[in-house]
Amino acid sequence: MIRWQPTLPQHYTRMSDAELTEAIAQRRAQLGDKLVILGHHYQQDDVIRFADFTGDSFKLSQLAAEQVRQSGAPYVIFLGVHFMAESADILTPEDTAVILPDLGAGCSMADMADYEQAVTAWEQMHELLEDRGFNGRIIPICYMNSSAAIKAFCAEHGGAVCTSSNCHAIFKWALEGGTQQRAEGEQIKILFLPDQHLGRNTAAAMGYDIEQDMCVYNPRDTDPALIGGCSEQQIERSTFILWRGHCSVHMLFRPEHVDQVRSAWPDATIIVHPECDHAVVKKADMSASTEGIIKALESAPQASRWAIGTEVHLVDRLARAAAERGVTARILSDCQCLCTTMYRIDMPHLLYVLDRLIEGEVVNQIRVDPQVRYWALEAMNRMLAHTGQPPAATPEPAGV
Ligand code: SF4
Repeated sequence: MIRWQPTLPQHYTRMSDAELTEAIAQRRAQLGDKLVILGHHYQQDDVIRFADFTGDSFKLSQLAAEQVRQSGAPYVIFLGVHFMAESADILTPEDTAVILPDLGAGCSMADMADYEQAVTAWEQMHELLEDRGFNGRIIPICYMNSSAAIKAFCAEHGGAVCTSSNCHAIFKWALEGGTQQRAEGEQIKILFLPDQHLGRNTAAAMGYDIEQDMCVYNPRDTDPALIGGCSEQQIERSTFILWRGHCSVHMLFRPEHVDQVRSAWPDATIIVHPECDHAVVKKADMSASTEGIIKALESAPQASRWAIGTEVHLVDRLARAAAERGVTARILSDCQCLCTTMYRIDMPHLLYVLDRLIEGEVVNQIRVDPQVRYWALEAMNRMLAHTGQPPAATPEPAGV
C-alpha cells in the first residue's frame, strides 16, 4: 500500500549534509530522554548513526518498549519501514507516539498480504476442505514482516507470528497443535504469510518436500476453477500453504551469483538470508537470519572469506567491521540489493520530524487500531511464550 508523504518544505532539501548532520545532532540533544531513536540494520549510514539502538525489527521494538518504560520517553522515531513502526506502537505504552519519518517507507513484502485477502483465502480453503471431510485445522502463521492486521488475523484464528530466527520452532509448535493439543488423528495445515520463501526454506529444512507438501496461494489469481491458483488436490495434500509474497531485495540474489562467487573465491563461505529463493539457499553454505548472519561474521576466523546474500547497507557495514579483523566479506551479487523503501528515510525527513517535535507537534505518527493491537500483541506473545521468553506486554482489553 502506498502511503502519502507530503513534500518537505524546500528548506530541508536545500541543506547540505554537514548542515543536516549538525541540525539533527542539535535537535536530538535538545529532546534528550524524551526521545528514543531506533535504526534497522538495513538503514543507510547517514541516518543509522543517530540511532540509540540498532537491530532487527522485533528486537528494536522490544528494546524501545523497555527503554520507554524505564525513561518515560513519550516519543519513538523508527528509522525503518511501516510494519516495524506498527510493531513498536503495539509494544510500547498507549501514550507513546511512534513516528516514521517518511510515510512512504513501506515494505513491498508486507503489502503483498492484506486482511481482506487473508479472510477470502481462509473461507475458500475451509469451504473446500469441509466438503472433502477434512479432519483437522489450518493454523495461520505470519512473518514479523507483515501488517498489524495480518498479525491480528493470525492470532484470531489460532496462530502466531514468527521471525526468521524462530520460524522452525513456531512451525513445530503449530504442527503439534498450536494453542490446543493436537487430537488423535487430527491433521494440521499451516497457512504461512506473506513470504513464500521463508516458509518454503524452513519447511524444506524440516524435511518436507517442496513439491508434494507445499503449494503457493496467489491472492491475485481469480481463476474460478482454482483456489488462489491452487488445485483442490494441491490444497488437500499440502501441509504448508504458502502465501505468494516475497522480499524484492532478497529475490535479486540468483543461483548463478553463488556459482560466480565460487569460481572467483573457491574457499569462501556463502551465507544467505532465508528470504532468498530456495535454489539460492540450496546452493549456499549456510542460511541464517539477520542476527545469525551478523553473529557468523563476528565469529569468522581471521583470513576467511565470506559472500553474504542480504541487504547491501548491512553487508557494507559487516564488511568494514570484518576487514578490521582480517576477514574479507562482500555482497553475493553486484546488483544494487538495497531496500528502496527503507532508503526513503533520509536526513531531511529525520530533521523534519525532529523540528516538529521541538515545536510540540507530532507528525507521521503510526497508530494501530486498539482491536488490531490487542490481537497482534496476542500473536507476538504466543511466539514469545513458545520460545521461552516473557510476554512483550499485557494486551489491554479493547472491546474484543
Ligand atoms: S528488505 Fe524486503 S522484507 Fe525487509 S523491509 Fe525491505 S522489502 Fe521489506
